[in-house]
Amino acid sequence: KKRLLLELKGKENVTRDGTKVNIYANIGSVDNIGAVLLNDAGGIGLFRSEFLYLENNDYPNEEQQFLAYKRVLESMAGKKVIIRTLDIGADKQVDYFHLKKEDNPAMGYRAIRICLTRPEIFKTQLRALYRASIYGNLGVMFPMITSVSELEKILAICEEVKAELREQGVTYSDTMELGIMIETPAAAIISDRLAPMVDFFSVGTNDLTQYTLACDRQNPDIEPFIDTHHEAILRLIEMSARNAHANGAWIGICGELAADTTLTETFLRMGIDELSVSPAFVLKVRDAVRNVDLRK
Ligand code: PEP
Ligand code: MG
Repeated sequence: KKRLLLELKGKENVTRDGTKVNIYANIGSVDNIGAVLLNDAGGIGLFRSEFLYLENNDYPNEEQQFLAYKRVLESMAGKKVIIRTLDIGADKQVDYFHLKKEDNPAMGYRAIRICLTRPEIFKTQLRALYRASIYGNLGVMFPMITSVSELEKILAICEEVKAELREQGVTYSDTMELGIMIETPAAAIISDRLAPMVDFFSVGTNDLTQYTLACDRQNPDIEPFIDTHHEAILRLIEMSARNAHANGAWIGICGELAADTTLTETFLRMGIDELSVSPAFVLKVRDAVRNVDLRK
């Protein structure tokens, strides 16, 4: 089977009836880029930028971040790279942020909530991302979105950052795509309101499952209760796909469910445009896609 999968390198992600889909890879470190290229992923669908913060003893400065993002873009040589802004808190803790201990960290002070209350951290990351954007095909996405007003605030900060860069004569790409993670039930339910504001959605099924089924993703005792194919989750994904397309946005899935090949056909029927999986699963998903026939 392994040898057969290797034969799929260089082949298209196309169903028997000719429907194409992007298969990208998820990574959390620059060291994983080799695996992305080796497994012939079309791009990076989720780059967890936490690595920059986790491997440092203090906040990484703009220059450090810029150089790291630039390196990622250059090694991907024009292929799409979607970098997610800082998503710490809950399961991802960094000492120097001095986050308080919480009873319910998954529902607490994390991700975009930290970025919006500490805009200096957020703006430093955004400046580095915009500056790096001219070195490749960059998309930036925001985690843990629950409301229109949050997204309005984020987009206003992006405009501020761009205006500052222009004033300083620093170049950035005008075509850089902005997107949001759909990983809370709220975001999926109001996806008709959010879609007109962004270029793309990326469904984070790990958190979407946790919040929809009220099942802690880190508690092994709960695992038997987690039905990853629960109809509620599939309906939320389908609703998000419909609302994305009705508003000219594209939609991908970057949670672990994207690699579940028993759902590949279901996702393609929903019109999902991109599946982003661990590098090791790229060819397995390509194989599944090539066996689907949507005419049936
Ligand atoms: C998700 O929630 O599905 C996701 C991709 O993000 P993370 O696993 O980093 O929370
Ligand atoms: Mg998540």
